[in-house]
Amino acid sequence: MRTKFKVLDTSAFIGGYRPLDKYNYTISEVTEELKDLQSKMIMKNALDDGFLNIQEPDSNCMELVESTIKKSGDVLRLSKTDKKLLALALYVKKNEGEVTLLTDDYSIQNVSKLLNLPFKSVLTSGIKEVYGWKLVCKGCKKQYTEDYTFKECEICGSPIFKKRLKKNF
Ligand SMILES: [Zn+2]
Repeated sequence: MRTKFKVLDTSAFIGGYRPLDKYNYTISEVTEELKDLQSKMIMKNALDDGFLNIQEPDSNCMELVESTIKKSGDVLRLSKTDKKLLALALYVKKNEGEVTLLTDDYSIQNVSKLLNLPFKSVLTSGIKEVYGWKLVCKGCKKQYTEDYTFKECEICGSPIFKKRLKKNF
């Protein structure tokens, strides 16, 4: 199996994505942008465990991002951090291998398409749940999403329990 590298933007951490292997990258600006306690803890744990690499992209990658954005007309919607993050994804792809950008930011996703960089949204793709818990009915085994707040199954009335999900991303 080939290693899949991941580049994480601020929204990936805020969305609750937890790096669980050593192939996760971000830039120093993202560590400074995190404000809420939960995403700060996720980042701190990932750094402590060696699951998160802080990396600077090179100037070639930065220039490629700049020129692509100019052509796309998305100039104003992307921050300096956004552009650097896209450059990092290009850099990791060039130096390490297959990479996926984890971001919920539509402007970043749009430019990713132009740069032929695969991306995934943390909130909508279920990546977050891949590492999380799933709610399953003890009786009929019906699965519920995290937002199901009742303690009993709506089909058979059996209690619902939490099941750890396997990692497959
Ligand atoms: Zn049930």
